Amino acid sequence: MDCIFCKIANKEIPSTLLYEDEQIVAFNDNAPQAPTHVLIVPHQHIVTINDFGKQHSTLIGHMILTATQLAKDLSLAEDGYRLVWNCNRQGGQAVYHIHLHLLGGRNMHWPPG
Ligand code: C5P
Repeated sequence: MDCIFCKIANKEIPSTLLYEDEQIVAFNDNAPQAPTHVLIVPHQHIVTINDFGKQHSTLIGHMILTATQLAKDLSLAEDGYRLVWNCNRQGGQAVYHIHLHLLGGRNMHWPPG
């Protein structure tokens, strides 16, 4: 499958890995939108968050808990940070393999662009 995030998760393409286990990887975004911009990505190729079902509940929880742990490890927790899932075209999704963005290190804007 020609999927950039499958290739990063399988280490066919190098990335700055911050965390990995049998379910997920976390690596620095290659075009960061904040001083800290990490992507939490499952090994499983799931196209959009519309494809989440009850069978993914454990994975979703694991992705969020990994993001919040990374936020603590990267000293973002006290000042705050943002977790983002983009979905499909109007949601701003560019890579069609789900990923959770962890953004921090600057003031975030609301509403988001
Ligand atoms: O949510 P969305 O699909 O727009 O986010 C994709 C993200 O993947 C972007 O922030 C982009 O910079 C990142 N990316 C990356 N490495 C790649 C391709 C995309 O970090 N090789």
